[in-house]
Amino acid sequence: MKAAFLLGKNRVVIEDIPVPEIKKDTDVLVRIKSVGICGSDIHYYLEGKIGSQIVEDKIILGHEAAGEVVDTGKAVTRVKKGQRVALEPGISCGVCEHCIGGKPNLCPDVKFFGTPPVDGALKEFVVMPEENLISLPEGLDYNDGVLSEPLAIGLYGVKLSGFSVGEDVAIIGAGPIGLSVLFSVKLGGAKRIFVSDLLPYRLEMAKKLGADRVVDARREKIENIVRAETGGRGVDIGYEAAGKGETFRQSTEVARIGGRTVIYGIPEDDRMEFDAHSVRRKELRIINVRRSAHAAKLALELIAERRLPFSSLITHEFPLERIEEALKMAAEYRDGIIKAVIKL
Ligand SMILES: [Zn+2]
Ligand SMILES: [Zn+2]
Repeated sequence: MKAAFLLGKNRVVIEDIPVPEIKKDTDVLVRIKSVGICGSDIHYYLEGKIGSQIVEDKIILGHEAAGEVVDTGKAVTRVKKGQRVALEPGISCGVCEHCIGGKPNLCPDVKFFGTPPVDGALKEFVVMPEENLISLPEGLDYNDGVLSEPLAIGLYGVKLSGFSVGEDVAIIGAGPIGLSVLFSVKLGGAKRIFVSDLLPYRLEMAKKLGADRVVDARREKIENIVRAETGGRGVDIGYEAAGKGETFRQSTEVARIGGRTVIYGIPEDDRMEFDAHSVRRKELRIINVRRSAHAAKLALELIAERRLPFSSLITHEFPLERIEEALKMAAEYRDGIIKAVIKL
């Protein structure tokens, strides 16, 4: 089968490798159909690392994936051959305090697809434990399955923030994660939603998903707009989903006294900067989000309801052979790209 290997910064090659075998009775062999290109894949491609996770050997990227079950181990009961599934990309240990406490996303022994040294899903077949497969609801395609991964992260962070109906929010960054947050708070009954981004086409998508006020970050600062349009109060929650220096500070500046800030973004230089006094005086709660826990099934069900046009986040499709083109285009935000998927 074909697989796309990242060899280090800016180098991807397609190689032939053996189809993996089912080893445990609870394993399932899945033929991969769609794999999303995520911001983290782009970090590995451009920088060769995310923080202390460094690409030392060659690695197969990709963790947002969906496909069809082609074979099952003897003890598999929940999925069967021919079933269409989305993949939950983190295989956690199941026995540590975090797994038992309901937060497998914090498992120190988690094997997360496409994160060094664990190979990801940019290949024709993968073997996964049965519990990592979520069946695709009727009416959803493999691309929707891919979208369940970023949407699960959006939903999970919104839950962590204790968001409740009627709150005002600001979302900094309208990429797939920021738009997933938008989708979640819109369905959850936010009163007023501000969204900022540098890219006008992404703000257009934010409007389609129900943003009340979009802010072109090239011309205006969201903290000024929020202050002016909330009578100086600020929003209840600022969601940071850009990871670009100033956006961390902005996500705290938009929040009201006693409010919350939620951090999704990955800073390139391993630093986040806030104004310490502003954060302290407001007694701001700053909440970090690590991937997601138990949210992928809900994500799929909410996409399937079609109350908002979430599937339109996928703007581009490429065959596996053109993976590098997809990574470059996504890295350079060219051609109106929001989410690119690789079709296998
Ligand atoms: Zn992702
Ligand atoms: Zn664990």
